[in-house]
Amino acid sequence: MPLQDVTSRVRPALAGFEPYDPAFSPCRINLSANENTHPLPPVVTEALRDAMATTPLNRYPDPLGNELRDTLATWHGVERASVMVGNGGDELLFNLLFAFGGPGRTLVVAPPCFEEYKNFAKMCETTIVEVWRDERDFSVRADAIVEAACDADLVMLTSPNNPTGDLLDPALVRRLLDETNALVMLDEAYVDFAPASASLVSWVADNPRLMVLRTLSKAFALAGLRCGYLIADPAIIDVLAAIRQIYSEDVLAQAVANRAVALRDELVPVIDGIVAERTRLSQALAGIPGVRQWPSSANFLLVRLPNAAEVRARLRDEHSILVRDFSYAKGLADCLRITVGTANENDELIAALRAIVEGE
Ligand SMILES: *Cc1c(COP(=O)(O)O)cnc(C)c1O
Repeated sequence: MPLQDVTSRVRPALAGFEPYDPAFSPCRINLSANENTHPLPPVVTEALRDAMATTPLNRYPDPLGNELRDTLATWHGVERASVMVGNGGDELLFNLLFAFGGPGRTLVVAPPCFEEYKNFAKMCETTIVEVWRDERDFSVRADAIVEAACDADLVMLTSPNNPTGDLLDPALVRRLLDETNALVMLDEAYVDFAPASASLVSWVADNPRLMVLRTLSKAFALAGLRCGYLIADPAIIDVLAAIRQIYSEDVLAQAVANRAVALRDELVPVIDGIVAERTRLSQALAGIPGVRQWPSSANFLLVRLPNAAEVRARLRDEHSILVRDFSYAKGLADCLRITVGTANENDELIAALRAIVEGE
C-alpha cells in the first residue's frame, strides 16, 4: 500500500513547519544575509586553506571540539568547561530549547527579533511570550520583559538585535538576573561590530543563569562553515554536552574555526573597515528622500521606505542587488535590512536605490 497522508503522522507540534527560505536569488551583489563580504588578509585565508588541506577526513571528530573550545576559552578568559561549540549558533539555540524548554515551560522574547527563537521554541512545544518592542523606535519594554520573565523559564535577547541593530541596555540583563529566576540567553552574534564594552561575556563567571551566544558566521566571515559557541556556567554546558548530536561539529569546521579564532587579531582591520563603511552607508542613506533608518551597532542597517517590497524587487531585478525584505513581518512594515558590504558594493547599492527612489 502506498504511504498516504504522511502529514497526519507527523508529531503534532511539528506539523505545518516549512523549510527555511532566505528568499535567496543569485545576484551580482548579495547584501541580504549579514555575511562578511570583505576580503580577508592573505595570512588568514592561507591558514584556513592549510587547516582544510591537512585535516584527515577518515577519522571521527572530537565530539566536543576540545581544541577549539580551548582556543575560544583562552580568548574569552574562561575555562574550557564554560564553552560549548555547535553547528552554527542555530544548533545551540535549538539545543537550549530542547534542554530547557518543552511542554509547560515558557520562553520570553522581544520581537522584532531573530525568528529562530520562536521556531525552535514551537518545535520543542515551549510556550512563547512575546514582549513587542516600541513600534516607533524599537526600544525594548524593560519593565514588561522583567514582569514576563518572573513567570518564565528562559529569556532570549539579542545585542545587537537582528534586524533592528540596537544594543541591549545591560541594566535590563542585570534586572533579569536579580529580579527573576529565568535563564537568560544573550545572543551576541553581531557584537564584534559594536564597541568592545558591549559584550557581557565577562558577566558569565558571576552569573550562573546568564549564557552568551556567539558565532563565527558574521564578523569571522565563516557563515558557510557552521560554527557557533555558547559561554555559560559549566553546569549548563554539561547539559548541552549530554544532549547534543554527537558529531555535529565536523573535523573541517573544528580545524578551520580553531585557526580563525587563533588569528582573530588579523581580522580587526577588516571589522574596523565594516564599521567605517556602516557609518558611510548610513550617511549616504540619510541623503535619500523618504528613507528612514535606525542606529545600528551591527553589520547591517534597517531602513524603512515607501513601497519597500517593490523597491527590493527592483534592486534585485534591475540592478542585481539583493537585500532582505522584512516588509511582510509584523512590526516591520516597509522595512528592508541591508548588510554593510564593501565600499564598492555600498556605492552601487546607494546609486541603485537613489535611481529607484528618485525615478530614473
Ligand atoms: C546569524 C545569527 C545567529 C547565528 O547564526 P549561525 O550562522 O547559525 O551561527 C544567531 N543569532 C542571530 C540574531 C543571528 O543573526
